[in-house]
Amino acid sequence: MNKIMIDLDETIVTGGYLEALNEYLGTNYQKEEVKEYYVSDILPKEENDKYLDYFYQNVNVYDKSTIIPHALEVIEKLSKYYEIYICTAFYDKRKPEACAIMAKHKYLWILKNMPYINPKKILLTSAKELVMCDVKIDDKVSNLKRGYGRIKILLTQKHNEHYTKEELAKLGILRVNNWIEIENLLLKGVLPE
Ligand SMILES: [Mg+2]
Repeated sequence: MNKIMIDLDETIVTGGYLEALNEYLGTNYQKEEVKEYYVSDILPKEENDKYLDYFYQNVNVYDKSTIIPHALEVIEKLSKYYEIYICTAFYDKRKPEACAIMAKHKYLWILKNMPYINPKKILLTSAKELVMCDVKIDDKVSNLKRGYGRIKILLTQKHNEHYTKEELAKLGILRVNNWIEIENLLLKGVLPE
């Protein structure tokens, strides 16, 4: 069976971070207003640091995030034909100790929402380039361009929209816009437009 490595954040689930920050600040920031990759970077350094302590102690971001349309049903279908590994990073260099709780949140979320995934195949690491898989699906180009993967699939998200088709082709990466395109590609052999 061919192996697929699938990322979690912004590939299977999305959001939650801005909702948590808004709750903490009592604000109503909208997605479009935040340009920073880490939403809390809109805060000055000291406040950001305090917020991160609060965040890791009190927030399970997966309670506030949403599932990307069709992700779970397509992965379940794929699991009948491929070995599925969910590979997700939890390390935060800003809070190397406090971030350990994220490993627990991620692991438990996958167990609960993806019961068809063998828990032994949940990989909690930032070193995604070490994972040898036939297919890799991620929203971050940096996670795809290093390491081995016969088919590397980039799921479109705001932060990766600026990569052109040519740039991605040079890196051996194929862009898809949604999970239906992933299903078509991996189960029916139909290339995305
Ligand atoms: Mg991701």
